[in-house]
Amino acid sequence: MNFNRSAKKKMSFERFLSYEYSGDYILQETPYSEQINLAAKAIREADYVLLGAGAGMSTAAGAEYGGKFFEEHFSEFQKLYGKGPYMQDMYSAGFYPFPDQESKWGLWSHLALLAGADLDVTPLHKTLLDTLVGKKIFLLTTNADFQFEKAGMSTEQIFATQGSYRLIQCERGCHQKAYDAVELFRQMERERKNGRIPTELVPKCPVCGGPMAMNLRVDDHFVQDEDWHAAEDRFSQFLSECVGRKTVLLELGVGFNTPTIIRFPFEKMARENESILLVRLSRSKAMVPASLGNRAIGISADMARSIADLTAKLKSTEL
Ligand SMILES: [Zn+2]
Repeated sequence: MNFNRSAKKKMSFERFLSYEYSGDYILQETPYSEQINLAAKAIREADYVLLGAGAGMSTAAGAEYGGKFFEEHFSEFQKLYGKGPYMQDMYSAGFYPFPDQESKWGLWSHLALLAGADLDVTPLHKTLLDTLVGKKIFLLTTNADFQFEKAGMSTEQIFATQGSYRLIQCERGCHQKAYDAVELFRQMERERKNGRIPTELVPKCPVCGGPMAMNLRVDDHFVQDEDWHAAEDRFSQFLSECVGRKTVLLELGVGFNTPTIIRFPFEKMARENESILLVRLSRSKAMVPASLGNRAIGISADMARSIADLTAKLKSTEL
């Protein structure tokens, strides 16, 4: 693997984002076991590992959002609203046109707890983190479920760009602050009847008095508060440090929903820096730009398997 030093450039999150679609995607033909060896060798030799995690990571770790899981946990709401286009899975359910705030928070408190505070799919996350001990690591993630944090990663090393299932904000974003609402959600969960929470539990914006919403990037009103910007600063700092040094970009389950945040920027970083190598793990979207040559390894496999094999390889002495 080539880890030549290149000139250091000042980085920032804004400069990091990329809208460049690579026109030369290929699924590499290198055998799986050789790819695992190459990826393990690259990680072993690297000083810096920048993790980029998308929805596929949570799914591979066992998180469920639809199917039987949804039927089991949302039957109360399916009875009320019918299955329709919304009451099919946790992503769609949140977009239901609720008749009032009591109903909106009745569902959202339940959903936010199941997808965040009460979700525990940490074993796969832990397995991965265990093998990165001794490396300088940072996580960029579009996941709002804080599973890496639960698995023991410091919040100082995490930049969750799209929000969190534990935070709420003014619905129209009248001021830049997000509020922790896990305890409020628990109270709502206890007191919900027929899909609705008591009126006195409905949160109101402390500044404009208007309705509140989840702090998730679903529209232009997404609030990026002090904590968000502090995480952005730490991320930019990490980028400035790792550029020009032996770095692996370890991409975990990132598809094409929001490719401009992790996928395209990782390709760009590898393209522009000889010392940076991209390892892309994905069940079905592991294609990489052919032009990156041996600076990209795209491993198509169930990630529970590829992460287990990769970490086993990293722990073993022979590579
Ligand atoms: Zn407000």
